[in-house]
Amino acid sequence: MSKLGIYVHIPFCIKKCNYCDFNSFPSDANTQERYIDALINEIKSLCKIKKISADSVFIGGGTPTILSDELLEKLILTINENFDLAEKTEFTIECNPKTASLKSFKLLKSLGVNRLSIGVQSLDDKILKTLGRSHNVKDFLECYAAAKIAGFENINFDLMFAVPNQTQKSLEKTVKTAVKFEPTHISAYGLQLEENTYFYENKDTLSFPSDEQNRKMYDFLISYLEQNGYFQYEISNFAKKGFECKHNLKYWDLTEYVGVGLGASSFYQGVRYQNPEKLDRYFEFANSFVPLWEQNPKQTENDLISEFMFLGLRLNKGVSNSDFMSKFDKSMFDIYKDIVDKNIKAGLLNRERDRIFLSKKGFDFANTVMSDFLLD
Ligand code: SF4
Repeated sequence: MSKLGIYVHIPFCIKKCNYCDFNSFPSDANTQERYIDALINEIKSLCKIKKISADSVFIGGGTPTILSDELLEKLILTINENFDLAEKTEFTIECNPKTASLKSFKLLKSLGVNRLSIGVQSLDDKILKTLGRSHNVKDFLECYAAAKIAGFENINFDLMFAVPNQTQKSLEKTVKTAVKFEPTHISAYGLQLEENTYFYENKDTLSFPSDEQNRKMYDFLISYLEQNGYFQYEISNFAKKGFECKHNLKYWDLTEYVGVGLGASSFYQGVRYQNPEKLDRYFEFANSFVPLWEQNPKQTENDLISEFMFLGLRLNKGVSNSDFMSKFDKSMFDIYKDIVDKNIKAGLLNRERDRIFLSKKGFDFANTVMSDFLLD
């Protein structure tokens, strides 16, 4: 049986980026301390009720590395002592280049963190400014050097494309330079315009790349990364062989995971639930913990099937009927015959033996294809 993934949310950031609608915000040291105490209480209470065995931990945010070394140490020791972690657990922490230091990286490494996910986004200072990032290219270079000195080998770079004013040339330069650093993994996300962001409020004054430019950037990313040894295993994710993100694969494979912290989502015991999203409500919840999986209804089979298809088709390998049958005890082709045929005919889906997966053209229209697989 697959082991669970643990997600730990740290909602604090230096400042809000112009495109970001995540549950993240600036805070003072006192709030950070209260938050970590509440988070520790949530973890201890949860693990007292259930023994949770996991083989991936992902501390994300927000900006986890904004925390002081003392708070990071307290939190990670609590994770290590309370969850039953497998020997080869993939333990990731996200970091913003502005908040990284050699001392913190050394501490993280000594506590068992073995994967860094660096929010690089671009290696062009003009684009970083447009994005409203708190770091610049020089910060990234220092951060990366510190990570290497501290001994991190497994490093992801997050990159963004289709940013206002970003040219093809700028994107290509960023990707080519990024590859020279030889990260083991690259996540490349096309900018999405989200409500309640600076970009959304100012969208009429900003110049976004057209759909065609957007596609050209994405096509470049795929081909250049492939030529340089990065295998695309998901719509937005590329890895050197053997360095796919074990934790994120759980989301797409419908493996269970437990999220702790503000607004964190879980899929546990067949139930999806989410922690409170407002800080004061989260403090109440975490300090008098009640298991939410006992309160939320289980998902219907149709919900689970839809999700399995929707998420599985994000992966390069797509979905196999044998995996489908072992989860649901029925054939995917009995349920989706017409939809599969229609999308294959349209050149959006490929089939190889018992597996279906998006074609190259299908990746460009992924959301439309995946929506076809949602059952009522
Ligand atoms: S650092 Fe990340 S989480 Fe924080 S505001 Fe920027 S994009 Fe959002």
